[in-house]
Amino acid sequence: MNVDSTPKILIVDDTPANLVALKLLLKKVKAEVIKASSGAEALQLTLEHDFALILLDAHMPEMDGYETAEILGSTPGTNTIPIIFVTAAYKDEVHRLKSYRAGAVDYIQKPIEDHILISKVNVFLELYNQSFELKSLTENLELLVQERTEELRRTNKIASIGGWKLSLDLKYIILSDQALEILNITEYLAEQEIPINEFMKKIHEDDREGALLAFSKIIKHPKKEITFEFRFVGHEEKLRTANIIINAMKDKSISFVGAIQDITDRKESERAVQFMAQYDALTQLPNRYLFNDRLDVAFATATRLKTKVNLIMIDLDHFKDINDTLGHPIGDLLLIEVAQRLLGCVRDTDTVARLGGDEFAIIALETQGALTINTLTERCLQSLAKPFELDGHTVHTAGSIGVAVFPDDGRNQEKIIKCADIALYESKENGRNGYHFYNQKMDESIHLRITEEKQLAKAIEEEQLELYYQPQIDLNTKKVIGAEALVRWNHPEKGLLLPVDFIPLAEEIGLIIPMGKLIFKLAAKQINFWSQHGILDIKIAVNLSVKQIHYCDFIDMLENTILELDSGVDILELEIPEMAMLEGSQNNNDVFEQLRKKGISLVVDNFGTAFSSMLNLKQISAEFLKIDRLFIKNVVNDAVDAKIFKSIIELAHTLNMKVIAEGVETSNQLSYLLNNGCDVAQGFIYSHPIPAGEFIDWLIQYQDEAR
Ligand code: C2E
Ligand code: CA
Ligand code: CA
Repeated sequence: MNVDSTPKILIVDDTPANLVALKLLLKKVKAEVIKASSGAEALQLTLEHDFALILLDAHMPEMDGYETAEILGSTPGTNTIPIIFVTAAYKDEVHRLKSYRAGAVDYIQKPIEDHILISKVNVFLELYNQSFELKSLTENLELLVQERTEELRRTNKIASIGGWKLSLDLKYIILSDQALEILNITEYLAEQEIPINEFMKKIHEDDREGALLAFSKIIKHPKKEITFEFRFVGHEEKLRTANIIINAMKDKSISFVGAIQDITDRKESERAVQFMAQYDALTQLPNRYLFNDRLDVAFATATRLKTKVNLIMIDLDHFKDINDTLGHPIGDLLLIEVAQRLLGCVRDTDTVARLGGDEFAIIALETQGALTINTLTERCLQSLAKPFELDGHTVHTAGSIGVAVFPDDGRNQEKIIKCADIALYESKENGRNGYHFYNQKMDESIHLRITEEKQLAKAIEEEQLELYYQPQIDLNTKKVIGAEALVRWNHPEKGLLLPVDFIPLAEEIGLIIPMGKLIFKLAAKQINFWSQHGILDIKIAVNLSVKQIHYCDFIDMLENTILELDSGVDILELEIPEMAMLEGSQNNNDVFEQLRKKGISLVVDNFGTAFSSMLNLKQISAEFLKIDRLFIKNVVNDAVDAKIFKSIIELAHTLNMKVIAEGVETSNQLSYLLNNGCDVAQGFIYSHPIPAGEFIDWLIQYQDEAR
């Protein structure tokens, strides 16, 4: 049946004149009018058109109006078409009833009054139009539903969601094709009944109990929606994870339906995220967060069992140096290997975590019959003291260990961690590669030390450091040829501090690097100031610490300093401890070579204290050799020292180096130096190290006296 938006009216009459008259009348309504001259023709036309209304003549030969109406009324498709009887013949009540019973909705008597006919027809047309709209609306809706269903099916496929239901007797499960696909079930078809025990075999055996539990739960409480996860062997024999949602459907009897989704990928990314949040990416050990968690659990267990927990804090000795000299990739390899070694020392029940940097921790539960905590820590120390072979480098390190015990040293995490840290600190203070248990006496010394560290860091930040200068005099010309810059700390509470009071600490905790930077900055500033005031003929010697040279950014830092110098690099001299040459690594030699290339003259400082080899001395090709104070001290009254001093001078000269004698205090010492060919002298005999301002005064006075 075709659907058209212009309604059609069928007029049926055996008298052609009546049909023409009716059609003329109906020109006033918005409808297409189709004529039929018999009941049979009318029936035929209803098969071809969708009529909004039929105007039916009651009295016709062969099949009259009533018969026609009855057939239309009993035929699906036409039984909803309203019929209005039009008749002149039957005016009585009986006929009127008869036509209504035959399915007429209305009854019009001839002669027809135009306006009555028009208004009645319009009512039915209106009805028809409304129902037509409704119908197309439903049809559209159906189309929409179909589209949505298809869309859903597609999304389900993408999201890997399938459907399933249980048979009423709960003995079978029926899966959608998507569910079969997810579970990789090929033995059954979609919508086919699968015996529950067959289905259960698909579920990983460790998850079957959970599945049964979930079902029994919903059977008991059918109102709830329940979900559970299970593993199964999916495509390519891979163990995958699915999530099942169960709903109880209650109409006459309860049945269970639900969705099934493959959540393997989601699980994996969840797991990866979780892993990243809880484990250290480099060593794969638990990180600080997981460590805190585990520590809490360990404390709770120990409280319940009335046992103890040992917290072992481990710090690698000289890790920073290794990182600085050999580079971070080697440092990383070392940490990975350390993690492995520590894991090898502990029991399965213990936790080894990396808390950051070179800081590791072990949570060791005290269990009866197990190895004692002392054995465990010693084992760790021994294991870390063995050399590491890392990408062709043999690296030596060692661990320092601090131990705190729960609940003896404290009853909460914070306290125990702090105690273990303090004990660790104590181990480092006592020469490293050892272990200490926390005790309360440690608190005081640690507190002091921490304050000192903080103050030193602040001193660097606030530039509380100042350079003092000590003149160096050429023994032949008596001219001041240089000055050694020596650092001082103007401590806000303790007053002026000498290097011995803070340099060792700075070296130990790595502050020597920023401190060295500051010293270079201060020296550069002073050099620029002096050259602006015409003092250009003296060199300024800056002291370096061995650690500074090892630092990978050292050359960069130096370059920046040189750039700051208005007068260029000629004025700068670097004093390198003889000790630095002993280290003898290729890296050090590279640094010296680069320094020389930059035109910086080098001074081998404290010569005679480290017993460096001739070869090293030759390689570094320094301009000056500075003989240590110790030798000067005894040169006048100790024949052996005097001989040593003399031969050092000779040695230096053969290597084309000039000799500086430092710590010259007396005129006897000075004349010895003069007689033995020493080139330069420095010491209290001329001046103590003094602030820059005083140094100029001293210089002017010295030059005046020399004249
Ligand atoms: P150093 O390089 O051997 O410096 C010489 C030390 O001898 C200075 O001590 C100086 O004050 C002292 N001195 C100079 N003349 C005499 C003398 O006639 N008699 C005696 N008894 N001593 C004399 P200071 O300034 O206390 O420095 C000690 C050490 O601290 C230095 O030894 C050096 O190793 C280190 N240092 C000083 N300044 C710096 C610096 O800026 N950077 C680095 N890395 N280390 C520095
Ligand atoms: Ca020096
Ligand atoms: Ca020295």
